[in-house]
Amino acid sequence: MINRDRLVETFMSLVKINSPVFKERKVAEYLLHLLAELGVEAMLDESGSQYGSDAGNIIGHFRGRRPDALRVLLSAHMDTLVSGVDIEPIIENGIIKPATKTILAADDKAGLAIILEVLRTIKEKDLEVGDVEIVISSGEEEGLLGAKHLDLSLLKADVAFVLDSDGPPGGVTTRAPSYDSIKAWIKGQAAHAGACPEKGINAIAAAARAISQMKLGRIDEETTANVGVIKGGCGQKRCS
Ligand SMILES: [Zn+2]
Repeated sequence: MINRDRLVETFMSLVKINSPVFKERKVAEYLLHLLAELGVEAMLDESGSQYGSDAGNIIGHFRGRRPDALRVLLSAHMDTLVSGVDIEPIIENGIIKPATKTILAADDKAGLAIILEVLRTIKEKDLEVGDVEIVISSGEEEGLLGAKHLDLSLLKADVAFVLDSDGPPGGVTTRAPSYDSIKAWIKGQAAHAGACPEKGINAIAAAARAISQMKLGRIDEETTANVGVIKGGCGQKRCS
């Protein structure tokens, strides 16, 4: 049912458009144009300005022929790694590759191409499906920033598929590791090391006491923790 040649063509055209993280505007405009052609009511939200991207998230609604049927959300991200610029895709022995030493940026232009091909197929075959919602996020490669700033009240879907993983076709990822980080500042009190050391509060010593109380390494079956970077101190003659 899916038009394979058209899918490949869409993918090739998408990877040729530079969209390194935070500079996604060009591909966002191209996607908005394609979505409009497919009858998707789509808009670019304003979230990009909050995390330094020149494009926010695209949120689109496609009216299906069966408004009573399950509403499905399809999502992918439009940004690529910073190194994903000036990509020239070629097909060699049935495999799409970059012609030069760039990445291919299948992450996540492949997801975008799939969403467009699904919509084209629904329209072309006049399939009886429910409403389809589209979310194309930006800033993903710098910590899912578009998704984190997404206004969820704009969405009504019953189920969502995020098209952004590797592995053989047909596989579904239901869980993935994520991380939280804590940045802590400990401010001490400077005092002359010779004249009045008793007035000083040593921030490094306080940090050391705090870290010694933290549980590190394996916390439980699926959680680990570590101390990443520690910086501090301002010299030998004063303590703070
Ligand atoms: Zn990705």
